[in-house]
Amino acid sequence: SDIGSQKDRVVTEEEWRQKWAMGNTGFHKERGHPLLQKYLDVLLNGRSGLRIFFPLCGKAVEMKWLADMGHNVVGVEVSEQALKEFFAEHSLPYCEEPVPEISGAKMFQSTSGNISLYCCSIYDLSSSIVGKFDAVWDRGALVAVNPCDRQRYASLMVTLMEKNSSYLLVTVSYDPNKHKGPPFYVPESEIKSLFG
Ligand code: SAH
Repeated sequence: SDIGSQKDRVVTEEEWRQKWAMGNTGFHKERGHPLLQKYLDVLLNGRSGLRIFFPLCGKAVEMKWLADMGHNVVGVEVSEQALKEFFAEHSLPYCEEPVPEISGAKMFQSTSGNISLYCCSIYDLSSSIVGKFDAVWDRGALVAVNPCDRQRYASLMVTLMEKNSSYLLVTVSYDPNKHKGPPFYVPESEIKSLFG
């Protein structure tokens, strides 16, 4: 599990916005992720009306699924284009407002109020701004974070979780010498040390 060739790689926020602008978004799954369907019961654990967090959300269709099931969804994404596409593709009316605590950030909220998507870096968030969550769907998030930022990301995620929250994490397993990422290869041993 040598991640040598990836550990210094950095993808900037501007590069991510460029990927959206160019349509280089092969990570987006139009039909949603089968692993969320498979492990939905584990995520919800019999609870209803949860606050569910989508870090680095893109325009993940799973946000719509969970909102339709009666949960409150909060996401964060640096690409405004991704968030606007999300609302447009689901024909959801929304409003746009500034986030007083974060300069330059905007929050896009569905008119029904149950989907709130922050347009800023995840590192700008804190529990005093977004509150704490009962559940987290982390797909294309930890694996998209720059390897040098993983500890910071994991520590932040822990501060955003309620005591009994559940966290579903999707990673990818492959030879990191054959692909530069993202998605990056995050060995299981590192996941254990990051989240304890
Ligand atoms: N989770 C989504 C998107 C995965 S791709 C899905 O499953 O489809 C990773 C996303 O993170 C991209 O849309 C990128 O624009 C966004 N991103 C990258 N760095 C970020 C950061 N620091 N804060 C918030 N979003 C970020």
